[in-house]
Amino acid sequence: MLDLTLIPAVQTTLPPVFEARHLIDGHWQDSADGATSERLSPSHGVVVSRAARGGKVEAEAAIAAARAAFDDGRWSQLSGKARATVLLKVADLIEANADRMALIETLESGKPITQARGEVSGAADLWRYAASLARTLHGDSHNSLGADMLAVVLKEPIGVVSIITPWNFPFWILSQKLPFALAAGCTCVVKPSELTPSTTVILGELLAEAGLPAGVVNIVLGYGQPVGATLASDPRVDMVTFTGSTAVGRGIAAAASATLKKVALELGGKNPQVIFPDADLESAADAVVFGVYFNVGQCCNSGSRIIVHEDIAQDFTARVVTLSRQVAFGDPLDPATQVGAIVSREHGAKIDAYVSAARRAGAQVALGGAALEVPGLGAQFYQPTVLTGVTPDMAIAREEVFGPVLTVLTFRTLDEALALVNDADYGLSAGVWSENVHTCLAFARGAQAGTVWTNTWMDGFPEVTFGGVKQSGLGREIGPYGLDEFLEIKSLVMRIGRTRAPWVRPR
Ligand code: NAD
Repeated sequence: MLDLTLIPAVQTTLPPVFEARHLIDGHWQDSADGATSERLSPSHGVVVSRAARGGKVEAEAAIAAARAAFDDGRWSQLSGKARATVLLKVADLIEANADRMALIETLESGKPITQARGEVSGAADLWRYAASLARTLHGDSHNSLGADMLAVVLKEPIGVVSIITPWNFPFWILSQKLPFALAAGCTCVVKPSELTPSTTVILGELLAEAGLPAGVVNIVLGYGQPVGATLASDPRVDMVTFTGSTAVGRGIAAAASATLKKVALELGGKNPQVIFPDADLESAADAVVFGVYFNVGQCCNSGSRIIVHEDIAQDFTARVVTLSRQVAFGDPLDPATQVGAIVSREHGAKIDAYVSAARRAGAQVALGGAALEVPGLGAQFYQPTVLTGVTPDMAIAREEVFGPVLTVLTFRTLDEALALVNDADYGLSAGVWSENVHTCLAFARGAQAGTVWTNTWMDGFPEVTFGGVKQSGLGREIGPYGLDEFLEIKSLVMRIGRTRAPWVRPR
């Protein structure tokens, strides 16, 4: 008998299968060839949604609609106030539909219902924040260029934006991008992950209800090939914003390069938390457990490696193992569940392969290390797993496992800890735990990461920008910088009066 906290299946009737279609130029459509794909719930093993499966035809039609909508100014030429009004209505509608959205998100992704509700409500706040930014768009003025000159720098929407999103936080990640693109005045084509299309489709309904003009947001369902690839390469698209794996992100940057469109990439991470002996170890252990098991570790910000001072490594690891046994794994539909199912069977096998390889390379399993069967549900779950005896060269210490698997490394000095932190291809986020502010600040300055947390993990706010360095990405999301990504800059230089001496001197 496993000494873990398991939440068995809830006795409930699942809702009818959600039918998802493309939204192109304000019309809901099936694919021209009638193709569809079905999504099996990872936790319940039954079909929960059926989506139109798009091809090049649908992707190109959606791009044409977004292009026309941008070029005729039906959205881009509205005032910031008018755009903000629509975005605020969308936020209200998201909240009004939160239960319905959270339920299908849980069924498609396997994440706990309490977490899904939190993400949908948090997403409404992102829409509200983006609405507030829509009224702040301004450039600069230059009034000291000489008596006869005035220059202004204008900010304009970049144009048509392709938005490609992953399965791990389907609605949250969409809401980190779309309201900011809309606040800027852009028009969009959205492609959700083929595994989690439904909340994006529900949002399409809400956008129309809020009064967004047809064609401003278009949704094409389907796979990376050919839908995502078309959205990344079509010359009528001005920018691609993508969240997903580093490998696909690299391909998107290459596809976009032919037409030199702007690319924003939010990619993977191998995020360290460094724990010093003077830290509040109780809070640190709790944050480590949260950081690694939240969303079953299927999280770009997963705190998947901890780097613990040698003096406390053994005790701290024991503390983490004890807490790990108390995290509630099980049926995502039970509000008490904290950790749900792995998104797909293939992904579960990939997580297990990383753990097996680490074992063969000499790592020891302090906890877990195998799939988990939840009573009344299938076995598409994975045990909370802690690996010690890991060396920095092992794949499990360097690559993104994207599962509930923690590796423990040790250090002696701050420099040694920073060297381990920075010895990584990724640079998304990093954390430090110490009661000494000097240690925290020195760490923050030295860590190569887009976000550094001190004495906390994964706290985020719409106001505070997010993004990665190194192979974790390009560009920034949310906050004022997130809006800037969707703006182009135009300089306007004006002569005041006819004061310029002619260039050509008449003979
Ligand atoms: P993925 O890269 O497999 O897919 C992401 C999206 O890209 C999906 O919509 C997919 O259909 C599409 N796609 C696939 N091939 C494509 C192609 N050739 N051209 C265009 N689009 C294509 O990623 P995933 O498995 O859905 O998500 C997991 C990954 O996302 C992890 O690596 C994770 O770290 C990353 N992620 C990063 C962040 C962040 O903010 N940095 C946030 C969440 C997830």
